[in-house]
Amino acid sequence: MTKPDPISIARHLLRCPSVTPVEGGALSYLAAVLGAASFTVHRMTFSEPGTADVENLYARIGTAMPHLMFAGHTDVVPPGDPKIWSHAPFSGDIADGVLFGRGAVDMKGAIACKIAATLEYLTANGGKPKGSISFLITGDEEGAAINGSPKLLKWAAERGEKFSHCILGEPGNVAELGDTIKLGRRGSQNGVLVVTGKQGHVAYPQRADNPVRGLVKLMTALMDEPLDKGSDHFDPSNLEFTSIDIGNPTVNLIPGEARARFNIRFNDCHDYASLKALVEKRAAAAAGDHSASKTRVNALPVRWAINWEPSNADVFYTEPGEFTDRVIGSFVEATGKKPKLSTSGGTSDARFIKDYCPVVEFGLVGTTMHAVDERVPVADLTALTAVYRKILAKYFA
Ligand SMILES: [Zn+2]
Repeated sequence: MTKPDPISIARHLLRCPSVTPVEGGALSYLAAVLGAASFTVHRMTFSEPGTADVENLYARIGTAMPHLMFAGHTDVVPPGDPKIWSHAPFSGDIADGVLFGRGAVDMKGAIACKIAATLEYLTANGGKPKGSISFLITGDEEGAAINGSPKLLKWAAERGEKFSHCILGEPGNVAELGDTIKLGRRGSQNGVLVVTGKQGHVAYPQRADNPVRGLVKLMTALMDEPLDKGSDHFDPSNLEFTSIDIGNPTVNLIPGEARARFNIRFNDCHDYASLKALVEKRAAAAAGDHSASKTRVNALPVRWAINWEPSNADVFYTEPGEFTDRVIGSFVEATGKKPKLSTSGGTSDARFIKDYCPVVEFGLVGTTMHAVDERVPVADLTALTAVYRKILAKYFA
């Protein structure tokens, strides 16, 4: 048998236009490759009112423990205007040793490496792992993440699947392959600060109550003081306002209400409840009294509320131990580099997987993810395949 080639697998995947929620042929291709290697393959379509149906894939080989799950997604963000790409976004072109295409690093490339490494491992071990290997691949990571990993994991748990560990292939390396492994992610919480005033003529502010003053005061208070100083594994949490919404087209009208949207990226000093309580306490303290404001017309307390949006992005951290040591050891052996252990960046599907088993994240270099001309050096695909191959050898040793 010829050695499985991550580059040809990656090119196959890149030629599938699988922009969320479209499957684009990517999962069918994976199902065929894994089926041919004697994996039991399940194709699951999940639905939810108000969202598009999304296809997902779960494939397992072996019945014994330990059970290593490779997780990932084949959906991609839209390419934007294809004319500004130097190679068509779904061409899978290679030029000067670089493979181009939407999803090259996020994360079809890493999936190709995992598949190639697994096929190689199976061939070297009589076609069977000393335990179980599975692929849990969603088509809803870049979208709402409703009909993807959360439902797929729940479905797997209900049919009795137990996972020992997971490796998720998000492109977390910062500058070069092997510089970063992610052991955790910050949580994310959105909210809207609403200040209610009293509408009136701008020339008679004493008859009105301008909510803009209250909004600015509360925003300043929430931005001024950090939410924490950071923890052992995380940077300080951050609250960032992203939009101020008053929408008043009239020049001589004091509006009746003012709103500001914000997002908090929070670390393991908080849970949802304590985080909300802290923000509300600070808003309440700032709202209480207007006497400090010399320009204030009406010395009323600010009437405010925070509308918290539902969040499914809790903070998590995988404690280092035997599993992470083996993963890091494989990394060092295969690349000669010692990766930095990180918890930075946005959210990923690891936030769902962590409820089922410990998860670490590493894949390709993230520099071009979601960008025009997303691309990966072919040498990185070969190198990452070697890392995954080394992990499989160590994991099932
Ligand atoms: Zn991704």
